[in-house]
Amino acid sequence: MIRTLLIANRGEIACRIIRTAKRMGIGTVAVFSDADAGALHVRMADRAVRIGPAPAAQSYLRVEAIIEAAIQSGADAIHPGYGFLSENADFAEACLAAGILFVGPPVEAIRAMGDKANAKALMRAAGVPVVPGYDGDDQSDATFAAEAERIGFPVLVKASAGGGGRGMRRVRSAGELAGALESARHEAAAAFGSDRLLLEKLIEDARHVEVQVFADDHGTVVHLGERDCSTQRRHQKIIEETPSPFVDAPMRQAMTKAAVEAARAVNYAGAGTVEFIVGSDRTFFFLEMNTRLQVEHTVTEMVTGLDLVEWQLRVAAGEPLPLAQEAINYSGHAIEARLCAEDPAAGFAPQTGKVIHWRPEAAAIPGVRIDHGIDEGGEVTPFYDPMIAKVIVHATTREEAIARLSQALRATPLLGVVSNRGFLLELLESETFGSGAVTTGMLDAAERPTTAPSDEDFAAAVSVLALADGDDWFSSTGRRRCPMTLRAGETTKECSANFERGRLVSIDVGETNIAAPAIETHGLAHVREGRAVWLDRAGQTFRFEEPDPMQRDAAAIDGRVVVTPVSGLLRRVDVAVGDTVRSGTVVGIVEAMKMETALTARMDGIVNAVRGKAGDQVRAGDVLIEIAGEQ
Ligand code: ADP
Ligand code: ADP
Ligand code: MG
Repeated sequence: MIRTLLIANRGEIACRIIRTAKRMGIGTVAVFSDADAGALHVRMADRAVRIGPAPAAQSYLRVEAIIEAAIQSGADAIHPGYGFLSENADFAEACLAAGILFVGPPVEAIRAMGDKANAKALMRAAGVPVVPGYDGDDQSDATFAAEAERIGFPVLVKASAGGGGRGMRRVRSAGELAGALESARHEAAAAFGSDRLLLEKLIEDARHVEVQVFADDHGTVVHLGERDCSTQRRHQKIIEETPSPFVDAPMRQAMTKAAVEAARAVNYAGAGTVEFIVGSDRTFFFLEMNTRLQVEHTVTEMVTGLDLVEWQLRVAAGEPLPLAQEAINYSGHAIEARLCAEDPAAGFAPQTGKVIHWRPEAAAIPGVRIDHGIDEGGEVTPFYDPMIAKVIVHATTREEAIARLSQALRATPLLGVVSNRGFLLELLESETFGSGAVTTGMLDAAERPTTAPSDEDFAAAVSVLALADGDDWFSSTGRRRCPMTLRAGETTKECSANFERGRLVSIDVGETNIAAPAIETHGLAHVREGRAVWLDRAGQTFRFEEPDPMQRDAAAIDGRVVVTPVSGLLRRVDVAVGDTVRSGTVVGIVEAMKMETALTARMDGIVNAVRGKAGDQVRAGDVLIEIAGEQ
């Protein structure tokens, strides 16, 4: 048995592996880069070893540093997780050379399946159906052009060493081919160190269905059913489920049989996934085999009740598979959603920032599992994958599972970083997803209007800011207006918070007057970030900020001056020349028509002129305070 396990990974998967190791009484060693010194996986492990600076190439991808960490900490096995070195045959070999168990398949199986062209040739020989295409050694443009004509457009250009959806290009006609080949070669060379390409027939309206396989060193190979991963953006999965709503019993039987044969053909051992692309007529073709634990292994665990990491550790230690094929049973339906720091409105571009509100335990009810690797206060850095958490649910039926997943996502606002959470919710609750009709290219083709915040959302943000100012809102007349300009995405509104006897009574948003929303009682999750507010309403997250005055158009108020918006009596001046003010600081009060209006600084700086004193009559538009920016 393994005594001490080093986890050569980070984030949610490192945490997930540590949990199982602990339960099995195995000691755990984490590794970390400088960006992860305070990360959750580091704190969960029994010990942790620094392996280098933040960039993965200098830390999580450094074979020697990781082997050294294992030797130094007395680890007798290494689990690579997914991504990083998990499918790197040289790394597996280096582990064995150092006398350390590699928790994964034999080196030869990783090599055989690591190259898509090679894998397809092997699969053809084993009688597994593969996607029609060209995967020959001749890499000339002329050959690719001739082969594309033979296959028939549309075709897909792929990097033979590819992964993570990278190096892939859709080509609709002969004219697009040369450009696609050139850019795919570049991307592949940079990402995978090899510019070898292959062509495949593009299967239209396709589904991605994969089979989990497991093998041991004693010649037994089993499968643990399928997973449907057709919900993708940019050729990458975001929602996965099992069983597939598209697969029927005969198809399941044929696919799982083909997957087991694929594993046998390369003398597989450990956990692996055989991926198939499925046409609308239910014909399926081998795509590739991932020789590692998959991100979405969790849905298989939910319906089988098994712990796949435990199986991996047992098999790696030479034990036979814990269960025979007939003893593996399935119950209910499971769905996983990948919560990622990415902006669906900006082509799913990865986002970074500090997580200021994140309470996954709020969704902890039976049937809900959240695998994550970040705590509130943690930082999403640009160095690694933007996936923050996996929200996984299990229920009796697909319908119930969808409802439970929506509920779990709603219960877990993620504030501080832009995420795909609102997008996931819209998707889950859509008719298309509900009917099981999603195909792999669908989300990339869809128009995606962004949800703009409502006036009520603006009002809620205004009240958060106004109440947070913590000023004494009592005034002699009893009434006070506190104006502010707020922007959320493309929408900017002039607002004001209206107080009576120190109590917020209403908010003006543009021309609309809204009674003060009781933020706390309505349970809106919100958090302040300086003069900005993150707000969650039913799963949609908005960030409101006071626009930088220096960037507003010339007609707007210049940040260097504080101007009274109303005529009346200057009741109070709260600053003097030389005082430091922050954007949002109340610098004075004007009283007009039984109403007080707060004058606020619009930039950080130092007061260098005060043009009025308490008791003066002032006119709308008068400059009362001048501010110089801080050096
Ligand atoms: P899965 O089917 O489990 O989602 P993927 O191939 O999408 O598998 O990859 C799993 C993880 O590893 C993802 O986080 C992905 O971004 C990352 N990944 C996969 N291949 C590579 C690669 N070659 N280089 C860097 N990251 C990769
Ligand atoms: P990766 O190694 O990046 O995971 P895959 O070959 O597994 O690459 O393909 C990733 C995704 O791209 C698939 O899940 C599918 O959505 C799409 N895809 C791949 N090959 C085809 C094809 N021949 N026809 C249609 N879609 C495909
Ligand atoms: Mg794949």
